[in-house]
Amino acid sequence: MDLKFWLGRAVAEIAEWAAAYEPYRAHPSLQVTDDQFSAAFLALTGRLHDNYPFFHPSYAGQMLKPPHPAAVVGYLAAMLINPNNHALDGGPATAAMEKEVIAEIARMFGFPQHLGHLTGGGTVANLEALFVARQIHPDLGIAYSTDAHYTHGRMCQLLGLPGYVVPADSRGRMDLTACEELLRSGRVGTVVLTAGTTGLGAVDPIGEALALKAAYGARLHVDAAYGGFFALLAGEEAQADPWRAIARCDSVVVDPHKHGLQPYGCGAVVFADPAVGRFYAHDSPYTYFTSDDLHLGEISLECSRAGAAAAALWLTLRVLPLTPEGLGAVLAATRRAAVAFAHQVRQSPVLSLYQEPELDIVAYFPRHETAAGIDAECARVLAAGMADAADPVFLSTLRVPASDFRSRGHDVSGDGPARILRSVLMKPEHEFAVESLVARIERAIGQGPPSCG
Ligand SMILES: *Cc1c(COP(=O)(O)O)cnc(C)c1O
Repeated sequence: MDLKFWLGRAVAEIAEWAAAYEPYRAHPSLQVTDDQFSAAFLALTGRLHDNYPFFHPSYAGQMLKPPHPAAVVGYLAAMLINPNNHALDGGPATAAMEKEVIAEIARMFGFPQHLGHLTGGGTVANLEALFVARQIHPDLGIAYSTDAHYTHGRMCQLLGLPGYVVPADSRGRMDLTACEELLRSGRVGTVVLTAGTTGLGAVDPIGEALALKAAYGARLHVDAAYGGFFALLAGEEAQADPWRAIARCDSVVVDPHKHGLQPYGCGAVVFADPAVGRFYAHDSPYTYFTSDDLHLGEISLECSRAGAAAAALWLTLRVLPLTPEGLGAVLAATRRAAVAFAHQVRQSPVLSLYQEPELDIVAYFPRHETAAGIDAECARVLAAGMADAADPVFLSTLRVPASDFRSRGHDVSGDGPARILRSVLMKPEHEFAVESLVARIERAIGQGPPSCG
């Protein structure tokens, strides 16, 4: 699709809708001449050059990429009206769209019924899930793994609940034996499982954790902010499939602004039990909710939210639906890119694969005997890759304890933590760029200063 054309069409369509109302006098206080605007506009676009090329396959660093053109057009069209999805009278059309996309997300995870809404992002979405968890288990703590997103600890502080950190296994997944020990203490009411950790893309054993829910009555919340849309690739048959097990957990969070092709400002939280809506009551003494008769503002902690975010996601899912052939094809390509990247790193004489990627995040490091040596070399490669104006490569780093190299079978000495290299291959185009990316990284290592050790 031609973005320029459809942006123009969006402006024209909304202008046509507005023209049906009585003409009125524009106020001079808002008038800006094209000359005035031109200078300011050029200053802005000039300053925006101070960015990394998130769109380009050579950007293989953090979880960043531009939204799909469909999302841009959907957002702009709705933004020209600027509905507020806090309440139905803030914008009936986008409120209805939000309920529809939430139902599609709930269906993707297999929830037979649900209550949910969009949020400003994953952090607030997780806060909402933990807020509900606190209302249900007011005196009990929250357990999450060492590799869980850092905001869970912060949100526990905010909610006034003790947070318990459960160790991760040698693949970066929650150690359920340690988790069970904690549950036996009777101090934990909710376990946060991460489906796609931010660092390594590891998926906690959600299927196995269901037994803990049964045995200890713990709530299970799944933080799938990053990995959630990989549910589209889950086969029907595998019983312990973590993605299928989400349907039997109590809540899930997914970020459309990560793998859902959306601009920032779009997270989502979905609860399995619509009755949790009672905890949000602020105006009216509700006792029971069904998912269909609520205003979004009655079931969210945030007040004002962009209706445009719902419109953008709604339009995107019309053309790239939540099916294996729709958005799933995008995720399948990113996954293939990660598998190929890992394969090539394994063949490399200068790189080691930190661990097998589970999703589309690959962690690797330049070979060295010591953690300190790996750390220094990673910092150098990261900087050198970005500084090469002619042929740049953009990576990110992840700090890991030295013992985590050894638990993964790497012969690395030293005590201190070390940075390793991390590439989030979240653009489908990465599939076509794997060979050149790895070759480029190998070259950056080869161009290093001669070791004087
Ligand atoms: C990104 C992320 C978050 C935080 O989400 P934001 O949208 O950045 O607020 C939480 N958990 C996981 C696993 C994430 O990857």
